Amino acid sequence: MRFLDHQGFERLLATLADDGYELVGPTVRDGAIVLDRIEGADDLPRGVGEEQGPGSYRLTSRGDGRYFAWAHGPDSAKRFLFPARELLARMRREGGAFAVETAPDERPIAFVGLRSCDLHAVAVQDRVFMHADPGYRRRREAAVFVGVDCAEPGATCFCASMGTGPRCTEGFDVALTELEGGFVVQAATPTGEALLARIETREATEAEVEAVAETERTAVAAMGRQMDEWDMPALLYRNRLHPRWKEVASRCLACGNCTSVCPTCFCHDIVDGVSLSGDVATRTREWASCFSEEYSWAAGAVVRASRESRYRQWLTHKFASWIDQFGTSGCVGCGRCITWCPVGIDVTEEVAAIRATDGEVEVVTS
Ligand code: SF4
Ligand code: SF4
Repeated sequence: MRFLDHQGFERLLATLADDGYELVGPTVRDGAIVLDRIEGADDLPRGVGEEQGPGSYRLTSRGDGRYFAWAHGPDSAKRFLFPARELLARMRREGGAFAVETAPDERPIAFVGLRSCDLHAVAVQDRVFMHADPGYRRRREAAVFVGVDCAEPGATCFCASMGTGPRCTEGFDVALTELEGGFVVQAATPTGEALLARIETREATEAEVEAVAETERTAVAAMGRQMDEWDMPALLYRNRLHPRWKEVASRCLACGNCTSVCPTCFCHDIVDGVSLSGDVATRTREWASCFSEEYSWAAGAVVRASRESRYRQWLTHKFASWIDQFGTSGCVGCGRCITWCPVGIDVTEEVAAIRATDGEVEVVTS
């Protein structure tokens, strides 16, 4: 392992920018840490902390010089690799034919500061989009990932129990562990190795290597929640008529916040548009949510008309049928759906409530 001081870290970001990458990293906006285009290290949320809970999020001032002493805000790489609204095709009438306009070339993205849960989330979305979506594939293959080990998990995080964090283990080119005065750094790909070779680093000391392990132990111990996954997907399949679905539906607003902030949710609509003159036609892909009634419209009818059925669909897909479909859970334990749910519905609590009365409750089928 190598050690990178703060100057070296600034140089790392500047090198990526010099190589033509668009830097996308954490920055403070509207009272939250969001992912956005950044110029360099000065735009990072240095000395900023955060407090998270079910339905609550607020920034704090730490009074130190740490760049990454927080878990994450509402954003993830999803918003950049799978944008909320993407123009797929635009056709313009020219004489007797239509000319197809293509999207302008994008600069490749260098993601700075993604956490292990979010690196795992990219791998989950890869299973959905890499084989079928040329835009996603182009952005994904061109991207560079600078991961950062999580030292201060949020109170709603449960990545340790999902096996997706808090230490970066895969999905990155370069990974950092933030310590006093700099970072322990490691490369995992030829791109990452070539990048580090151009920046001044030194061998990490034994104490610094031990500090990396200690950072992980402390973060695991501080994890706000946990999810027992051992009996998935069977637990949710056999409890599809459990009364808890009705109870949670009485609190759920069907707002779809949880699906928007979830780094793995991939549902979308394709929307066609035509200009009033009839000269321009567009096809756009937009994020959709399984919490909306119309999203379950099929064969002339809404098949999930109740909020209860839509919440059950979401949770069961995440933790059960996703495993059948893609060979992995649809949840990486980031906890965003808990923090950003306006009524504080907690997936770990919902699954625990079902498990607690698994097979004991009277199921009303009428
Ligand atoms: S669980 Fe929460 S965030 Fe999700 S749709 Fe219901 S109220 Fe909205
Ligand atoms: S279901 Fe919730 S905790 Fe799991 S990945 Fe999505 S937002 Fe994160």
